[in-house]
Amino acid sequence: MYPELRLFIAGEWRKTNRDMPVINPATEEELGRLPCASKDDLDDALNAAERGFHIWSRTAPRARADTILRAATLMRERCEEIAHSITLEHGKPLKQARLEVIRGAEFFEWDAGEAMRTYGRIIPAAAGNKFAVHRQPIGVVAAFSPWNFPMSQPARKIGGALAAGCSIILKAAEETPAGAIHIARTFEDAGLPPGVLNLVFGEPEEISSYLIPREPVRLVAFTGSTTVGRQLTMLASQHMKSVLMELGGHAPVIVCEDTDVARAATLGAVRKMRNAGQVCTSPTRFFVHERIFDEFTSTFVTRAAATVVGNGMEDAVEMGPLANERRIAALSELVEDARAKGTNIATGGARYGHRGYFFEPTVLVNAPDDARIMQEEPFGPIAIINRITSLDEAISKANSVPYGLAGYAFTNRADYIDRMVDAVEVGNLSINTLEASMPETPFGGVKSSGCGREGGSEGLDNYMTIKNVWHSAKLK
Ligand code: NAD
Repeated sequence: MYPELRLFIAGEWRKTNRDMPVINPATEEELGRLPCASKDDLDDALNAAERGFHIWSRTAPRARADTILRAATLMRERCEEIAHSITLEHGKPLKQARLEVIRGAEFFEWDAGEAMRTYGRIIPAAAGNKFAVHRQPIGVVAAFSPWNFPMSQPARKIGGALAAGCSIILKAAEETPAGAIHIARTFEDAGLPPGVLNLVFGEPEEISSYLIPREPVRLVAFTGSTTVGRQLTMLASQHMKSVLMELGGHAPVIVCEDTDVARAATLGAVRKMRNAGQVCTSPTRFFVHERIFDEFTSTFVTRAAATVVGNGMEDAVEMGPLANERRIAALSELVEDARAKGTNIATGGARYGHRGYFFEPTVLVNAPDDARIMQEEPFGPIAIINRITSLDEAISKANSVPYGLAGYAFTNRADYIDRMVDAVEVGNLSINTLEASMPETPFGGVKSSGCGREGGSEGLDNYMTIKNVWHSAKLK
C-alpha cells in the first residue's frame, strides 16, 4: 500500500544518489527510502517551474479548474489507498486519515471554483481614459508543508498556487512524503502539464536556502513552526519575495459558566487528542469559570484518560503516536517543567509503551503563568485546565501568548460573544464548536502565528499580484 518514493520534477519521477529512511512512527519500522534532491535537481525543478508557469498562467481559468477538479475526483476515488499510506507514515487512526483525504479533495474543489472568480475591477476615470485593475498569478511558488497532515497540508499550497495560475515547487515533509506523492500522481493522471507541479525532498534548510533566493521564485509559502517561519521570512525579505506564513498556535478555550459543562468537557477531551494534538489549531489552554471548574475538570480528565492509544491501523484506536521521536523529548520537558512549578498532572505526562513514539493523553491542572507550557506550543496530546473568575480575566490570559491562530469559547451569552469577537487576538474564533476552519472560510493567524490566509475568497490573494492598466484613448 505504501508508494514508491521519488522526486517529481518536470513531469518525471526521479531517484537520486542520496536518500533517507521514512519510519512508521507506530512500529519504528522503515517504510522506504526517500530520495534527497541535489542542487542540480533543484535547478531542474526551477527551470521546469519557470516553463510550467509560462504554460499554466496562460491557460484559461476554466481549463485550470477542470484539471484541478479531475485530480480531486481521483483523490476521492483513491481515498482508501492514500489513507493507508498516511496512517503508515504518520500514525493517525485510519478513519481520521480518510477524513483528511476528503478534506484535501475539498480544498482543491474550493480552489478550483475560486480560479474562475479572480476578478479585477474598473475604476471610474475621465472620458478618454480607462483604469482597470488586473489580478495576475504571482509566478513560481516555493512551498514547504509539514508532517501533521501529510495530504491536506500540501493540498492547501498546491490548490492555491494552481488555481491562481502559478507553478509550484513543493518540499513536503520528509517524515510523511507519501501524501504529497499521491497528490502529484493524481495531477499527473489528470493531465497537468509537466513542470507546473514539482515535488522535492531532502535536507529542509539546504533546500529552502537554495530555492528562496532564486530569480523565478516570487512567493514563499510555509506551514510549520514560528521559529522556522521567521527564518524563511527573513531570507525572503532579503530577496524581496512575498511570504504566506501559517505558523504555530496555542489555542485558548474560554469555558463560561452558562455552558453545558459535561458536553463541553467531553468534546474538549476528544478534540484535544485528535491527531495526537499535533494540530496548529488544537484546543490547548482551557480557561474555565470557577463555578463549573471542578465538574468540567473531572469529566475532561476521565474522558482524556480513556482515550484508546495505539497503532492507527487498529479499528478501536482513537489516538496514534507522535510523528517522530524528538517530539517525545519536547513534550516530556514541558511536562517536567510544569510539574516542577507546582502543576497538578491529573493524567498522563510520559511516553506510552516501549515501541513506537506514543505519548500518554495528558491533562495538566492549574499550571502557573510562568510554566513554559503556558507560553510554548506543546504540539502534542497535552491540555491545560486553569480556573478563571471572569471573562475579562479569561480574555487577558487568552491573549497573553505570542500566538494568535485559533481561539474557542463555550457560551450562549450574546454579551460575552460580542466582547470576545472584539477582544480575542486570533485569526479564527469559534463559538460552541472546536472546528476552526472550512475550505470556504479564510484561515490564518495574527501576531507570531503568521500572515496571509488560505481558503475562503481570500485564499488566492497571496498567489496573485495586482497590475493596474491605464488606457488613454488618445496619445497625451
Ligand atoms: P520544525 O520547525 O523543525 O519543522 C516543522 C516543519 O518545517 C517540518 O516539516 C520541517 O521539514 C520544516 N522545516 C524545518 N526547517 C526548515 C527549513 N529551514 N526550511 C524549510 N522547511 C523547514 O519542527 P518539528 O520538530 O518538525 O515540529 C515541531 C514544531 O513544528 C511544533 O512545535 C509546531 O509549532 C510546528 N509545526 C506546525 C505545524 C502547523 O500546522 N502550523 C505543522 C507541523 C509542525
